[in-house]
Amino acid sequence: MKKTFAALCLFSSAVLIAAFPSVQDRKADLQKWAIHDESRPLPPIVNPGPAGPPAPVPADAIVLFSGKDLSAWTNGKGEPAKWKVENGFMEAVKGTGSIQTKQGFGDCQLHVEFATPAEVFGTSQGRGNSGVFLMNTYEVQVLDGYDNKTYADGMAGAIYGQYPPLVNVCRKPGEWQSYDIVFRAPRFDKAGTLVRPARLTVFHNGILVQDNEELTGPTAHKARPPFAAHADKLPVSLQDHGNPTRFRNIWIRPL
Ligand code: MG
Repeated sequence: MKKTFAALCLFSSAVLIAAFPSVQDRKADLQKWAIHDESRPLPPIVNPGPAGPPAPVPADAIVLFSGKDLSAWTNGKGEPAKWKVENGFMEAVKGTGSIQTKQGFGDCQLHVEFATPAEVFGTSQGRGNSGVFLMNTYEVQVLDGYDNKTYADGMAGAIYGQYPPLVNVCRKPGEWQSYDIVFRAPRFDKAGTLVRPARLTVFHNGILVQDNEELTGPTAHKARPPFAAHADKLPVSLQDHGNPTRFRNIWIRPL
């Protein structure tokens, strides 16, 4: 009986390991999958608990959005950001384009709260899609990931096209959620050669979903391009992907 139990445990562990890789194996695992591979295993679903009020803002943080206006943002063409602001949140307006901070940032801790549309429409990547881009280049995917199947490397909390989140901790559509991101910018030497890749740690609703992952380069759709030298500081941007996803309480601490 004991032997059967032990064998069963071993078998279940083996199944789990096969189904989803350990943190240490993530880099090796990434190489095994084509970008947006539909057969790449999806992470387990974990209930993060209920949404709370906006998180407190630390004294040394730069507030990027307090709920009042988009004065810290532009449309990236030297014009004011055209997203809607009301009731303490901003909302992506289809066709107005992505928005970006006026200020540039490199290494940073970034706090972002978001809510995908309460009224559910669309499927897969067409449902609550937006994104938080570090340095305008490296996307942490924003998506309605509650009962919405999509490819693993495009889920909410994914480093888009590269790393699925370790767990799926999405709240229901319309509920407030948070990302706490620690970003280490890539380093290039004077000749523009990559010295150190970018790294990302992400907590989604307070739960670790990316553990100091080493990026392969800029995030992209159907492509994993290599790093290309860029400035030490670049804007944080939020994606207009055609869905009215909302944001509130955004602040950053340069590191
Ligand atoms: Mg996106």
